[in-house]
Amino acid sequence: MRRGSVDLTIRTMKCALTIAGSDPTGGAGLQADLQVFSAYGVHGAGVITALTLQDSTGVRGVMPVFPSVALDQLRTLLADITPAVIKIGMLASDDVARSVQLALSGLATPVPTVIDPVLAASDGTSLLERRAWPVLRELMNGAQLVTPNLPEAELLTEINIERTLDRETAAAIFVEKFGCEAVLIKGGHHTGPPDDLLAIRKDSATRMIWLEGERIPGGPVHGTGCALASAIAAGLALDKGLEEAVDHARRFVAARLRGASRLGSGAAFLAPAGKH
Ligand code: PLP
Repeated sequence: MRRGSVDLTIRTMKCALTIAGSDPTGGAGLQADLQVFSAYGVHGAGVITALTLQDSTGVRGVMPVFPSVALDQLRTLLADITPAVIKIGMLASDDVARSVQLALSGLATPVPTVIDPVLAASDGTSLLERRAWPVLRELMNGAQLVTPNLPEAELLTEINIERTLDRETAAAIFVEKFGCEAVLIKGGHHTGPPDDLLAIRKDSATRMIWLEGERIPGGPVHGTGCALASAIAAGLALDKGLEEAVDHARRFVAARLRGASRLGSGAAFLAPAGKH
């Protein structure tokens, strides 16, 4: 090998693609996803679904990209590069969600997909128009994992989740009706213990695994859902099994939550990897 040149045969680089909204604060959305991929040592590719106008106090505006731009970007990228995993976050509009669906349906070999079914920001601003929910549900068919929080699980399954058993019923709907391989219903919004429920398709049944959660003291932290889904996606890109990827990602986010701090006047931000 010539001195100074790179031997491309000795390394295999893993690539994760995020399809998400842009958050200029860097705390959520595509910017946060890329930081997580980088922390895992995975190359991050990204296609933007919407620009947002926001700061640490909340979202002031959402501008979906032209659907044809999302479609063309995805087609161009995926014709050349095959990511090891695709993470889908905020889809903003029905037309953009349909473009994503169209681009992914054209893949010769399906790529494992992690979907964070983002419906609204913590301040209540809608991040996905209501008429796009059916496409979001369709995208879940065949997805490796979907990661709703409790309000998203309630809205998408139309189940009023009050008891522990209701969460298992909702989880079964994601797997058995929407067709995803697994669902992680996050318990952070629960007033009781913030346990997560991981439900995995197993033969013709659904295996329910309760994962004990720890409430980390402090105020609201921006973008934890994005970080968790991206960390799981990065773990999958590195060939971890689903349960291992989920377990690792939960610990990754918990460590960053412990070091969270405020950059602006609103919600805190997760600590960057390597700083606790
Ligand atoms: N902006 C973008 C682009 C997002 O994807 C999200 C959440 O997924 C948010 C803002 C809101 O983040 P949070 O509700 O954690 O403040």
